[in-house]
Amino acid sequence: RWDSSSLAGSGARLLSYGRRPNGQQRISSSRLTVNAVGDIISRFERKGFALKGLKLFQTPQDLAEEHYSELKERPFFPALVKYIVSGPVVWEGPGVVASARKLIGATNPLNAEPGTIRGDFAIVSGRNVVHGSDSPANGEREIALWFKEGELVDWEPTVLPWVLEL
Ligand code: GDP
Ligand code: MG
Repeated sequence: RWDSSSLAGSGARLLSYGRRPNGQQRISSSRLTVNAVGDIISRFERKGFALKGLKLFQTPQDLAEEHYSELKERPFFPALVKYIVSGPVVWEGPGVVASARKLIGATNPLNAEPGTIRGDFAIVSGRNVVHGSDSPANGEREIALWFKEGELVDWEPTVLPWVLEL
């Protein structure tokens, strides 16, 4: 019999994307489960995306249900809604939607490449650590769900000209 230890605490479920008037996109994410919040956030920062929003709070069930409303007929829906316990993170940058999907990896961690968040921190779909919006439109929808007016920070990283060909 193998020894086992339980994972408790926090990893962040990230989450939504959107296209902005300046051609940038935003993503938000939220979920705490693997004691790797800093590591996960760090991967997006290293990539060069700008952190625009971050909130830690107990996710109300109705918010989680609305966030995943497209999946409400799926058998894992009740478990999924319970799994989102933390809060959203918003990242902004060109192509952040597609890029974040790559950083996050496949839905089933079994298919997620090593080096991706799910490839490195997860084993099963029902505990795959992070959410990433699947389209710019859904990103905006999710950000509107999780953040109120004035809760995203309007700033540009000073390194931006070294990250983007502005
Ligand atoms: P994502 O965009 O890669 O997060 O995947 P989906 O939007 O299809 O599903 C949302 C979340 O539902 C996934 O990240 C998983 O946490 C969960 N999920 C999806 N498919 C399954 C499944 O077959 N079993 C379980 N237990 N959870 C699932
Ligand atoms: Mg999805």
